[in-house]
Amino acid sequence: NYFNLENKIALVTGASSGLGVHFANILAAEGATVILAARRMEKLQDAVNDINEKGGKAVAISLDVADKESVAQAFAKIKQDFGTLDILINNAGVANDPTSCLKMSEDDWNWVIDTNLTGAFRVAQAAAKLMVDAGNGGSIVNTASVYGLRTGAMKVNYNAAKAGVVMLSKSLAAELSRHNIRVNSLCPGWFLTEINEDYFNSESGKRYIQNIPAKRLGTMDELTVPLLLLASASAGSYMNGTCIIVDGGF
Ligand code: NDP
Repeated sequence: NYFNLENKIALVTGASSGLGVHFANILAAEGATVILAARRMEKLQDAVNDINEKGGKAVAISLDVADKESVAQAFAKIKQDFGTLDILINNAGVANDPTSCLKMSEDDWNWVIDTNLTGAFRVAQAAAKLMVDAGNGGSIVNTASVYGLRTGAMKVNYNAAKAGVVMLSKSLAAELSRHNIRVNSLCPGWFLTEINEDYFNSESGKRYIQNIPAKRLGTMDELTVPLLLLASASAGSYMNGTCIIVDGGF
C-alpha cells in the first residue's frame, strides 16, 4: 500500500458532489476513515452510504465554510468523535456564471471570495489547530485551480480567490512545517461537475474544450494519483507549499 492511509482520519469539504465525492472515495479506498462535509446533507449521506457499502469507512457532517459558527461546530464535533485529523482536503468551492469585470456586483465578488478563499482559510486554520494539538503532523490539500495560476476571462472573483488559495497554501506550509504539517494545492483544469456543467454543455463551452491541448475534459481518475500523492505523509513527504497542475496541457 504505497499511499499508506490506513488508520488516518481525513476530512473532505465539498464532498456532496463533483471532485469532493471522488476524493472521499479514493481516500476511503486507501484505508482512511473519511468525514464528508458540505451543506446538502442528503447528497452527503448518499455518498457516505456508497463508500460504506463498498467496505470503506465514512461519515457525513454538516458544514458551511462561509459561516464561522458552522465551521466551529463541525470541528468541535470532529474533535469529540475522532480526537484529531490527519488529512484535510479543503475542496468546497463555488463559481458564478461568467460575468464581465465591468458588471460584476460586489455581492458576487464577496460570495466567491468568502467561500473559496476565506472559507478555505477558516477550515485550514481549524484543521491545523487540531493537528498541532495532537502532535502527529498532517497534510492539508487545498483545491485551487489552474485559474489560480493563469487568467481566464469573466471570472475575476474566482481567479483572485484561487490565486489566493495557492499563496495561502505556500504561506501555511512555511509556518506549519515545524509541526510536520504539509500544505499543498491541487490545481485542476477542466472536469465536468455541477460547477461547470451548464457551461460545458453550451456551444461556447464545447468550443472552449477544443482549445485545451488534450481537446477533452479531464476524467476523475486523472486526479486520483495527484490527490493521493499530496495527501499521503509517506508518498508526498518532501512536497510542501507546492501545487500539482492537472489540466490537459494548457
Ligand atoms: P461542485 O459544484 O460539484 O462541488 C462543489 C462542492 O462545494 C459541493 O459539494 C458543495 O456542496 C460544496 N460547497 C459549496 N459552497 C459551500 C459552502 N459554503 N460550504 C460547504 N460546502 C460548500 O464542483 P466541483 O466538484 O467541480 O468543485 C470542487 C472544487 O474544485 C471547487 O473548489 C472548485 O473551485 C474546484 N475546481 C473545479 C474544477 C472543475 O473543472 N470542476 C477545476 C478547478 C478547480 P453543498 O452545496 O452541498 O454545500
